[in-house]
Amino acid sequence: MENRFKSLSIFEFQSKFPDELSCINYLSDLKWENGYICKKCSHAHYCKGNRFFDGQCTHCRYIESATSGTLFHNCKFSLLKAFYIIYYVSTNRNGISSTELSRKLELRQKTCWLFKQKVMKAMESSGKIPMEGKVDVDETYVGGQDDGIKGRKGGRKKIVVLGIEKQGKGVSRMYAKVIDSASKENLKGFMQHHIKNEAFVRTDKWARYKGMEKEFPNIIREKSEKKGKNFVELHRCIMMFKAWLRGAHHSVKHLQSYINEYTYRFNRHKMKEGIFENLITRMIKKPPHTYKMIIT
Ligand SMILES: [Zn+2]
Repeated sequence: MENRFKSLSIFEFQSKFPDELSCINYLSDLKWENGYICKKCSHAHYCKGNRFFDGQCTHCRYIESATSGTLFHNCKFSLLKAFYIIYYVSTNRNGISSTELSRKLELRQKTCWLFKQKVMKAMESSGKIPMEGKVDVDETYVGGQDDGIKGRKGGRKKIVVLGIEKQGKGVSRMYAKVIDSASKENLKGFMQHHIKNEAFVRTDKWARYKGMEKEFPNIIREKSEKKGKNFVELHRCIMMFKAWLRGAHHSVKHLQSYINEYTYRFNRHKMKEGIFENLITRMIKKPPHTYKMIIT
């Protein structure tokens, strides 16, 4: 396999991060690589603190740790183990369950589950690179008995709108979002966030996709044939996502997080190089995602 398509091997990972100090130093360098602003006095210069991975303001002496104000904030276990979680989540083809992480890293399952939720937060799409060219959009229900995926109490299903970018015979990228109803506003909101205006968007004939020509001048509404024969790639993507969700015993309770995880990995299936580094960088640039935010 060509080198540029390879993700970091476990040996490369272990030699790069042999201990706690190598991890904290890596985070420290990453956090201030594009400049520093003191949280207390807005001074733009810092020096290394007594612990040299801390940043200390040269004006007011305020000390900021490498992890504070990031998704590593308040991490209750070693950073080395946190790095391992990020490594497994980003490089395992189908991801990894919190039970498996717990076994591998000798941490409680709930601890792994919570930290993994933070990693999944970092996997959320920025929407900065919208899909272009040929894009198909549809919505689907996730959860309920047909899927074999547990719904919320009372077996309710969730509606997900998704879009795929087609390239040749395959699918180059996909994005999806849980919406509270399949209203025109929700559908259009998703499309405007993830699809370029000039893209050749294809949807089914459903009335709620009507009247979007202003935003998407090249939109085509096509009658959906039986079993989605004319939306083959899209339905294959839906089936694969549902199979993955079912296999991992996930319920639909944290569905958007699982969608973030799945699409993050899917969208990098051809370019795995830097996937681990990219995820760590996202974690250090994002604000804390607290327990309360995760469970509500
Ligand atoms: Zn300061």
